[in-house]
Amino acid sequence: MKKNSFWWQWLLYLWVAPITALCLPLALLAKLTGGGYNLHTGVLEIWGGWVGNRLNRGIPFLGSVNAITLGHIVAGISPEHLRNSRIHERVHVAQFERWGFLFPLVYLLAGIKARQRGGSLYWDNPYEIEAYTKAAEAKDNHYT
Ligand SMILES: [Zn+2]
Repeated sequence: MKKNSFWWQWLLYLWVAPITALCLPLALLAKLTGGGYNLHTGVLEIWGGWVGNRLNRGIPFLGSVNAITLGHIVAGISPEHLRNSRIHERVHVAQFERWGFLFPLVYLLAGIKARQRGGSLYWDNPYEIEAYTKAAEAKDNHYT
């Protein structure tokens, strides 16, 4: 993963901050309900508890997911789910850094466009395709 300069990275945190701040209480919620959180390579990873159960049971639009990126936060069902999806979710972090707090809207519009073409909102979404492609490449290169 490319490393940004200190100040550039702070600008990227700021650019995404509205989403990250909005989702920050999930860390406390997970912790108070039997899960946990930890900083990993500049991203707050949250797992388990109510948050993990919610992801496992399904969320709007996406259904059941192993993990989801919310700005500089990645929430997952468990630490194992976070580890297994780390490369994929870090691609979404980079997409957030590209689009800032507008990314959820951009992602949804891209999904709707894919759906209008007869595809799936998720599987044919170009942002998912990028994440799955890069994760597969990393796996092929034994870079996990
Ligand atoms: Zn994804």
